[in-house]
Amino acid sequence: MDSLDKLFFFIGQKYSVIKKKPVVSWTLLLPAAGCEYWKKTGGCSMCGFNDYIKKFNFGGIMYPDWFFKFLYKYALKRIKRYKPSELIIYHGGSFLNDNEIPKRFQTYIYNEVRKNDFLDTLTIETRCEYINEKKIRTAKKNLGKKELKIALGFESQDNYIRNKLLRKGISKKQFESSVKLLKSQGVKVSVYVFLKPVGLNEKEAYIETIKSIEYLNSLKVDEINLSCAFVQKNTKMYTEYIEGNYKPPFLWTIIKIIEEAQKHNWPLLLGEFTDNPKPIDIPKNCEKCSEDIYKILKTYRRTGVLKKTYKCACYNDYKKTSIK
Ligand SMILES: [Zn+2]
Repeated sequence: MDSLDKLFFFIGQKYSVIKKKPVVSWTLLLPAAGCEYWKKTGGCSMCGFNDYIKKFNFGGIMYPDWFFKFLYKYALKRIKRYKPSELIIYHGGSFLNDNEIPKRFQTYIYNEVRKNDFLDTLTIETRCEYINEKKIRTAKKNLGKKELKIALGFESQDNYIRNKLLRKGISKKQFESSVKLLKSQGVKVSVYVFLKPVGLNEKEAYIETIKSIEYLNSLKVDEINLSCAFVQKNTKMYTEYIEGNYKPPFLWTIIKIIEEAQKHNWPLLLGEFTDNPKPIDIPKNCEKCSEDIYKILKTYRRTGVLKKTYKCACYNDYKKTSIK
């Protein structure tokens, strides 16, 4: 694929905890109008995406639906031969918000997924406030038998961490009622959990992530997506990082969380350590073992299998200083 392709769509293989097998997915990144929550409030403290997308939407204007259709069709032509089973749409905001994505394009996508034989699932992201019965019914009706998966950013079960440290602006009550509504309409629910916000040390971050996963598992969500902190410019995290008050998590902590998930059969997926704009620092161990562990995690993302890790010398330091 050439660089233009990589700019707004790509094909990848990942393990599906819902289908319990690796699937080919097609990710489409749309230059939508930008996250309305970000425009109104300054957004979530770890997100650098909206600052990046400004370059493509001229500071937040919404293109007409024909423009999005053109992008979709352009990408479809080039990815057809890979026969992806899942279409994932990202724009760093809420797909169900008509001020971010034209309503006509929302319906268009539902119908396209229904009509394309190789696709069986559409995944979209949204904030909870845009979820209502009417929106979900419209989506389901136009998708026909195809599966709808909705990804929600909840990040932490702790109200202080979620709303003060991460500035998500979402109550537990609202989240739980959205999950309930989605499940009652037969929508698959995927939820993001965030590992290591600014303000938590390694051990606190580990404990909080496990608590959040347990909480989500008790709500019977279908997928739990672990987002591990990486540092992007123009975020609060970046300022703290530069001042030496923060570093992204150790890979050992991530391995430990995956091992727990496997032990308890939690439907855990591991997010990538990169995004737009490119992070300036990502989760890591020491220089000797990081590359090997990245490979192990890459295989885990693709196949769901966590290969055995050797314990590098840095593991002892990690145990002594971080987890105890
Ligand atoms: Zn090491």
